[in-house]
Amino acid sequence: MAPPVFRFAPSPNGRLHLGHALSALLNFDMAQAAGGRFLLRIEDIDLSRCRPEYEASILEDLAGLGIRWEEPVRRQSEHFDAYAAALAVLDRAGLLMRSYASRREIAEAARAADAAGAGWPRDPDGAPLFPGDARLPAADEIARRRDGGEPAAIRLDMGRALSVAGPLTWRETGAGPSGETGTIAADPAAWGDVVLARKETPTSYHLSVVVDDALQGVTHVVRGRDLFHSTAVHRLLQRLLGLPEPVYHHHALVLDETGEKLSKSRGGTVLADLRAGGATPQDIRAMVGLGPPRAT
Ligand code: GLU
Repeated sequence: MAPPVFRFAPSPNGRLHLGHALSALLNFDMAQAAGGRFLLRIEDIDLSRCRPEYEASILEDLAGLGIRWEEPVRRQSEHFDAYAAALAVLDRAGLLMRSYASRREIAEAARAADAAGAGWPRDPDGAPLFPGDARLPAADEIARRRDGGEPAAIRLDMGRALSVAGPLTWRETGAGPSGETGTIAADPAAWGDVVLARKETPTSYHLSVVVDDALQGVTHVVRGRDLFHSTAVHRLLQRLLGLPEPVYHHHALVLDETGEKLSKSRGGTVLADLRAGGATPQDIRAMVGLGPPRAT
């Protein structure tokens, strides 16, 4: 049987902190324990925020933790053609819609509805759901953009996608934010008509992660619990694109002293700073609640 395949997939838009260390070390340890492969993937589709120097520091930080990965490293910005091909499959199946509304226009409509006490549906991350271009207060202006041939965002038509895909589940060996584990019923509808390609970026996190996990033969997705609900969208895209289903393992997040998720800019938890201050790989493992590595 082929060995299991694990991956760590950071975005080079800041320096890695203890939360990334936990994710990377868990993936690496689980791959070693299972006699599997460990891949590193650089998720740099957002060219306005990602920088080569952050990518270089990711490699240094991981090596400094004693992690080894297979070469070549897959860099998403070199594979926009693969994501375009997947998008074309969905387009041919009639599952995409073009939308000309900006995120700001959707946010403003939601704010106005909240202020009027009407409320507005939100996705699992708290972002206001897209109601359709025609249902926004700026509908006339948005229609002018469409008629003028301006660039559009490409969204999945969730209603159609769900009717094609049918019910979906995934196998969770970690846990979701409310302790969900085992067989999880996926609820992609909670995300509405998700964006699959932006005006300025010809793909999205959801689309590229699903395409790459399949292309790289990833069998085990181990990542932070903040991405638990996104898995519903990933399972939906896998079904629509005929891609295999990995096992998912969402781990607890490393929190700061106020109970908030760590952010890349926050000092004191940045791996490069900890290393410069003399922290050993063993110290960092201990800080994220992991014991010594397995002898190999
Ligand atoms: N690139 C994503 C991040 O840095 C992780 C993607 C994933 O593990 O699915 O949050």
